[in-house]
Amino acid sequence: MRSIPIAKPIISEEEIRAVEEVLRSGMLAQGEAVRRFENDFSEYIGVDNAIAVSNGTTALALALKALGIKQGDEVITTPFTFIATANSILFQGAKPVFADIDEKTFNINPDDVLKKITSKTRAILGVHLFGHPFDVEAIQEICECYNLFLIEDCAQAHGAEYNGKKVGSFGIGCFSFYPTKNMTTGEGGMITTNSNEIAEVCRLLRNHGESRKYLHTILGYNHRMTDIQAAIGIIQLRRLDEFNEKRIKNAEYLNKHLKMKGLITPYKKNETKHVYHQYVVKIEEDFPVSRDAFMEYLRDRGVGCAIHYPLPIYKQPLYQQLGYRDDCPIASELANKVLSLPVHPALTEEDLRYIVEVVNNLEA
Ligand SMILES: *Cc1c(COP(=O)(O)O)cnc(C)c1O
Repeated sequence: MRSIPIAKPIISEEEIRAVEEVLRSGMLAQGEAVRRFENDFSEYIGVDNAIAVSNGTTALALALKALGIKQGDEVITTPFTFIATANSILFQGAKPVFADIDEKTFNINPDDVLKKITSKTRAILGVHLFGHPFDVEAIQEICECYNLFLIEDCAQAHGAEYNGKKVGSFGIGCFSFYPTKNMTTGEGGMITTNSNEIAEVCRLLRNHGESRKYLHTILGYNHRMTDIQAAIGIIQLRRLDEFNEKRIKNAEYLNKHLKMKGLITPYKKNETKHVYHQYVVKIEEDFPVSRDAFMEYLRDRGVGCAIHYPLPIYKQPLYQQLGYRDDCPIASELANKVLSLPVHPALTEEDLRYIVEVVNNLEA
């Protein structure tokens, strides 16, 4: 039987050779390869600065810290995301405030953001979820109007665009290179910004606040990237557009061929380039079976699937303990409807045909 995973990193001989070269060079941590990766990445995104860090979570945490987010501050974000997004706010002693999401794009809803602004709001942390950019224009306008910082969680959206500009170039961008993402370094992260001051603080925070060798000016961490990771990243970045084109083609194929009542294929806004980190369908009430039964059916036939995400963040035990209650009805509803199907670039044409055949034959 065929076995199609929900995600799969593509690592070629080129990445393996690049790692070998670093290992033989003896320069293993935050050296020349990291500098090159940062240069290539900033050029790709179209920003003045890129700061490589240990993972996507530390990228978010350092970005917030560099902006001076602290205890007593509120940051508005989406409840429909991976836990790291909101936790990066908690790490600062600040309070995540959840705004509800758009039913079609799954992204933060600017109208609800407006309702959640208080005198303590300092920033909006938007997530370009599943590879579809959030409503950048509306969110930017709110930030300008209320004097708020804009942080973009780009962990699922490397190469995605809004009005022809790459995400991560509008506010402070935070990327992850975890193995399931659109490009990988194993573990790894990147902060992107046009502000030289913010970039400088991020660089200090990443490396013990060290401004010169053994001169420590602020309290910093060790969130450095290794040259081993960066060497992989340099090659992966060169292949990113090709990976994303394949994801888009795969998504278009599924959009065209999946035909089952009650299964809603992903929505894409015209002004966006969607890079399909995940291919997320909605299972509506008129679908022939329950979502759980459908997942079991798919897995029995070797089609990987997953729920992103089964719980809005405020329903997570940690957040319940912190006193959060459900005030985002759309997020709560969608958590019960979404289902991710394989869309990654390692899928073959036969895989795609097989997925369609399995889904469309559900009732047969
Ligand atoms: C993966 C991910 C992160 C965290 O990145 P790590 O590299 O795993 O720390 C943050 N936000 C979102 C939306 C993610 O998908």
